[in-house]
Amino acid sequence: MDIQNSIKTLAESPGTDYFGIADLSGARDFIFRQGGPEIAKYPAGVVMGIVLNDTLVELLPDREKNGNSILYKHHAYDVVNAALDQIAMRVANTLQREGYSALPVAASRRTDDARICGPFSHKLAAHRAGLGWIGKSCLLITPDHGPRVRWVTVLTDAPLAPTGSPMETRCGNCTECVTACPVQAFTGRLFDENEPREARFDAAACDLFFKDEEKRTGVAVCGMCLWACPFGRVKRK
Ligand code: SF4
Ligand code: SF4
Repeated sequence: MDIQNSIKTLAESPGTDYFGIADLSGARDFIFRQGGPEIAKYPAGVVMGIVLNDTLVELLPDREKNGNSILYKHHAYDVVNAALDQIAMRVANTLQREGYSALPVAASRRTDDARICGPFSHKLAAHRAGLGWIGKSCLLITPDHGPRVRWVTVLTDAPLAPTGSPMETRCGNCTECVTACPVQAFTGRLFDENEPREARFDAAACDLFFKDEEKRTGVAVCGMCLWACPFGRVKRK
């Protein structure tokens, strides 16, 4: 089996719902600004996603009741992120055994407290792999599951063929995520690789809200921007 197919088979086998390969060469400046030269040197990203459980997402408006936020945090953050990191490790090790350089980027791990971000945007990789668009919420929006997907990426120099090209936005005139945010963190602007994230998203306002929630309730959970998106939303009574 060639490297493309063996990576695809491996990435899909443990229960991932999304798999794609992104050509990152066209977004080098954006990637460099976020992660520096050691991250921006990779020409390709293997990106994988796991769909969140709808029942748990639908609990988000009532997250303060019945320990709902604890349940959500456990499954939708801890369990899913750990599963993604395991898959990324296996993909990276396979690429490495074949003689390529491969860097698994943690599914959810902040590495820069000042800028409130990790070293690389999984959403950018999924966007460039043709799996969705980056919405006004700054989340990756898939046509079928909306933003209800968590992602992980393995950066590599392996000669992998891209699975797609960036998908056009389908946000249109929708502003549901913008109005759902309790701290008005979104400006409502569409994603543009040439603009800084601050043009769209006040990450500090979101971060402060999480810290306040942690102090107030003991568990930092929000996700209202994810819950509100009409893409992937389940029929509500
Ligand atoms: S997680 Fe909550 S506070 Fe943060 S941007 Fe989304 S809706 Fe706003
Ligand atoms: S809620 Fe509407 S504007 Fe926000 S990301 Fe989803 S489709 Fe786009």
